[in-house]
Amino acid sequence: MPEAIADNVVAIFHYTLKNDAGDVIDSSSGRDPMPYLHGAHNIVPGLEEAMTGKKAGDSFDVTIPPEKGYGLPSGAPPQQIPKSELPNGDQVQVGMQLGAQTPDGQVVVLHVVKVDEASFYVTTDHPLAGENLNFSIEVLRLRDATAEELQHGHPHGPDGNANH
Ligand code: ZN
Repeated sequence: MPEAIADNVVAIFHYTLKNDAGDVIDSSSGRDPMPYLHGAHNIVPGLEEAMTGKKAGDSFDVTIPPEKGYGLPSGAPPQQIPKSELPNGDQVQVGMQLGAQTPDGQVVVLHVVKVDEASFYVTTDHPLAGENLNFSIEVLRLRDATAEELQHGHPHGPDGNANH
């Protein structure tokens, strides 16, 4: 068992995420705790930084600025895409994420922010771009990552044996 969170350690934790107004945006409360592989960019950079060195049983609060969270808004207006350009274009809904490839082969995530009769509108901005992320974290358990997890760059469930 690793003693503290470091690279190649899987940490299992509970979290609550609030915005600066105090609204709960997301929480693992009432759900299974979340495992992540430290050093593999599974979580936002600021949270990964704050997790470093923490031990099982530690609880802490951390405020992460947008630069180390979901970035700053680009300021670019959403891009209009005709629904007819996608095979399932008429099923696209606000809040969905779509994967797209740029001409140079880079994969980007597009967030759907608006839908009308014939088109939907996407932005590369994360819905939480520009927001401080106020996390309350409870570290439950640590374990060493399996060889397969290290190869994949993510945990395979809390115990490392989940199929996917
Ligand atoms: Zn995997």
